[in-house]
Order: sequence, then structure tokens, then C-alpha cells
Amino acid sequence: MTGAMIGGCGGGAVGESDALASSSDSSRTIAARRDALKELTATALITADLRLKIEAADSVAQIQSLTTQAIDAFLAEHEFDGKAAFKMLEKVCALGSRTSGSDGMRKQQELLLDTFEKLDAEVEMQLFSARHPIDGSAVPMANMIIQWHPNRTKRVMLCAHYDTRPFPDNDPDPDKHKALFVGANDGASGVGLLVELGRFMKDLQGDVGVDFVLFDGEELVFESQRDPFFLGSEHFAREVAAGALEQQYEAAVLLDMVADKELQLYQEINSCRYANDLVQEVWGVARRLGIRQFFSRRRHEVRDDHLALNEIARIPAIDIIDFDYPRPSSGRTTYWHTTNDVPQNCSAVSLARVGTVMLEWLRQRVGN
Ligand code: ZN
Repeated sequence: MTGAMIGGCGGGAVGESDALASSSDSSRTIAARRDALKELTATALITADLRLKIEAADSVAQIQSLTTQAIDAFLAEHEFDGKAAFKMLEKVCALGSRTSGSDGMRKQQELLLDTFEKLDAEVEMQLFSARHPIDGSAVPMANMIIQWHPNRTKRVMLCAHYDTRPFPDNDPDPDKHKALFVGANDGASGVGLLVELGRFMKDLQGDVGVDFVLFDGEELVFESQRDPFFLGSEHFAREVAAGALEQQYEAAVLLDMVADKELQLYQEINSCRYANDLVQEVWGVARRLGIRQFFSRRRHEVRDDHLALNEIARIPAIDIIDFDYPRPSSGRTTYWHTTNDVPQNCSAVSLARVGTVMLEWLRQRVGN
């Protein structure tokens, strides 16, 4: 994820070809330097000292090693393993599309069931079915409810959607509107983060239990104006409201699009409207930890799975979402729902930042 390039040049020639080799070598070095500075600026790991070292470095290998060292040093300072979370993000993306009812979704469910059971969680598949927006057929759906310490009746919830939009229909190139959409940030980022966080859950002391809930059918949407979003969270919320579940949730945090390499997390407006105390609690944790990618300012009003939790289930729920993907100041158009929502535009560093805040928040909330 460091934008690694293969360096080296075929030496051995003389005269003109030597000159050619050395000029292509220097253009490789220039490109490597530019990529390294871009990567380290995007992930906010650049320092004046590091910039000087990269500018002085005269080989691709040296530049790459400086970049990797900076990223590894950052990741090593964090107990939450951003690299492992990123690997899971990549693994899930390698399954291809995970649209509700698809083969990719079934494979993802098998992978996650196995992964969470190995982390000593109890996993319930909350099955339901939805109408396919195009042909009207029944689509099998499943929310995954992943629990630790199920006997603790007071609980908090972390959640994410784990389905992907059927197509990248927001791609700037209309020819790509039926291409593969892998949803690295929009789908896989929440999954990768929760899997990694899951490693800490068994040992969380205190009297509050933790559930992770993965929602299906967040966007079985072929046409935004016509097709319903949030099928999974609405089903889950109705079950909670009907008293079908034993657990009482005190709070819920939704994670959506949390791996953008250029991470910027503003306080989302609906979250502030419904559960401002919880927003301030989480952003307060980030501030104390010095994680500056959580901005204490409101921006974006997002309709997402947290609405059903607030409105139907009456659980105070917030959405941690980076809706600027990438930063607007980068001059590029959004990657959201495009073929650019790929692992290369995400980062282990961003997952480490959000994961660290979530782990600390859980420890405070759960009581150890
Ligand atoms: Zn989406």
C-alpha cells in the first residue's frame, strides 16, 4: 500500500545505452520521490526532516525504504494492527462483488463466520429476505450479529455494512457504469477494522458486552431514486423494537468509509442531531489520543444505517464516515461508487487511526 515500485535498471551496456539507462533511472527516482511524498502527505506522516531525507535520497530503493520505515514506525506505535486490518480489507476485496445474495457475499460470510468464531465470538446469522429491485425475485439476506460475553445484558454495538453496491454507477466514465465494484472503502473498510478489533474483545473486562453487527442490504441499489437502501439495518432495528432480541444496547457506532488514505472525519450532522453526547464522547477520545483526523466540526448530512438504529430501535447511534474520498482539496473527483474505490486508495494508517479510537472508546465504555 505504499505505492511500491520496482527499481533497478539493466546495466552493462556502454555509450549511448548507458546514457539512456541513467536517464530512465533518474526519471524512475523522480517518480518514486513524487509518489513517496504523495503517500506520506496523504497519510499525514510527512515531517520536514523526512521530506529533506527523501529529497536527498538518490535511488528508488532508498526512497522506498524511507517511506516504508515511516509507515511501519507509525503502525508499530499502535496496539491496533492497521496492517492486519488492511490485509483483511484486501482479502475481502479479492472476493469481488459482495452484493447481497451474490456468490461473493456467500464467500465473505463463510470467511467472516470462521474468522470471528476463531476469536471466540458467538455469531448469529439474522436471516431475512428482500425483493430484488429489478426482477422482483427473493434475495436471501443475512445480518451477522457477533457477540462476546453474551450474558452481559447491557451492551454497546459497533456496526458496518458488509454488502457492496452492485455497480460503480457514479464513475466519471459512463462506459464503466457496469464494471466491477469492489468497495474497498465503501464496504470492506468496516469489515477489516472490525475483524482486527475483534482480537481484543474476548479480554474486555467490565459489565458491558460488545456486539459487532454487519448489515446486509445497505445498498442493493441499482437506481438511487427508486431502490430502497438500509434493508439490513431496518430489519435489525425492527427486531430490536419488537423486543425480539434480549440485548439492550446503550450506544451504537457505525463505521463506514474509514480507510481513505486521505482520512478526514467530521462530525456527521444526523449523528449530532440524534446522539450528540456520543459524538462528543468519541471525538473527545480522538482528541485525547492526538488523532487529528477526527475534526471537531460538523460536515455532511448522511443517510446511513445509523438512522434506523436511532429512529426505529431508539438506540443512540452515530456514523463515523469519511465522505470526502479523497480530500476535496486534492482536485480529484470523488472515488465514492466508482472504479477508484480500490485498496490502493485506502491505507493501513487510516485503519490504525480509527481502530485505535474505537479500542480506547470501548475500553472506557466497557470499563477496563
Ligand atoms: Zn455506498
